[in-house]
Amino acid sequence: MRLPIYMDNHATTPVDPRVLEAMLPYFTQTFGNAASRTHVFGQEAAAAVERARKQIACLINASPQEIVFTSGATESDNLAIKGLARMHRQEGKPGSHIVTLPTEHKAVLDSCSRLEKEGFEVSYVPVGADGLVDFGELESAINERTILISVMAANNEIGVLQPIREIGELCHERGVLFHSDAVQAIGKIPVDAQAMNVDLISITAHKIYGPKGVGALYVRDGKPEVRLAPLIDGGGHELGMRSGTLNVPGIVGLGKACELCMEEMAEESRRLITLRDRLKDGIQSRLEGVRVNGSMERRLPQNLNLSFDGVEGEALLTGLDGVAVSSGAACRSLASESSYVLRALGMSEDRAQSSIRFGLGRFNNQEEVDYVIDRVVETVKGLREFSEFTLPSAEA
Ligand code: PLP
Repeated sequence: MRLPIYMDNHATTPVDPRVLEAMLPYFTQTFGNAASRTHVFGQEAAAAVERARKQIACLINASPQEIVFTSGATESDNLAIKGLARMHRQEGKPGSHIVTLPTEHKAVLDSCSRLEKEGFEVSYVPVGADGLVDFGELESAINERTILISVMAANNEIGVLQPIREIGELCHERGVLFHSDAVQAIGKIPVDAQAMNVDLISITAHKIYGPKGVGALYVRDGKPEVRLAPLIDGGGHELGMRSGTLNVPGIVGLGKACELCMEEMAEESRRLITLRDRLKDGIQSRLEGVRVNGSMERRLPQNLNLSFDGVEGEALLTGLDGVAVSSGAACRSLASESSYVLRALGMSEDRAQSSIRFGLGRFNNQEEVDYVIDRVVETVKGLREFSEFTLPSAEA
């Protein structure tokens, strides 16, 4: 077993060697600009891009022409939300209201708050203690001015799976467009753009064993039309929605990563559920005062988020040298405040501060899980002893 052990696969994943192999020729051999249609270098690059478009579309049951390449999901979320809202306004259409959740990724929340500054109105529908959206509240948040609902498929901290199909149905009935940040769900659980009635889906390569800095936005084709104002103007690439020379090796990598997920997702999920449950049971059987954050039933196979009573999460992370896990989203792991996702579940500051996210992945094995269990149990016991913490039940 090699140390350190990487168990932070929600933050990012290593590139699968098969993905790297597929990408390599596109750096030095087939290096053409995919927009250079007049010679073979460009034509071959363009053919590789179109192949990748098909591989991505296939994973989410979409058509290749519905895939727009971006630099990652932060851009995809921005393009979906700001692009839709601003186009709506530019075209003089009625409506200026967006509905989302307080547990969304910052790429969604910050896009929404930017739009609030531009005069749009945003409703943040609460989630329950299990992290799931209150469907009744979501329904009643929709009004005659609502143009878009943005709800993520799977949460990046607690792995909770929102009822995307039901929300899609609701949006369809009420004539509201639906965006889903499906970054953490794609390639892990089935995501079907048609069956789920989603109009816009954000995707990124680096959460599915592809490279960083490349992603895609699914933009549904058909009626009612989904029209986006571009964030970046330039050569009119990607049907004018996203200008800029295409990152051909990255796109090839994203395509290959999707193809592998398509082939291996079912088996991989079963394996990761077994490992994740072993991790959970191993820790909970040897330590008291360990609670699961978020619904255990509606959760990604590879996610576990635990709070440890009487333990400071940051101290646990530091104590766990040799094991890479995190206290939440990578984009706020430098900030000292507790997770806004956990606080949105109604959790106390103390409990939120005592939480750790485990993100299992393709390259973890049982030996690593057993090592992590030992290290967590040992470190938590040590920290509790040091702070002379007694569990409330032990006091009684
Ligand atoms: N949305 C979610 C749910 C994420 O987990 C992430 C990754 O951190 C992003 C968006 C941002 O993706 P990217 O790193 O490709 O910009």
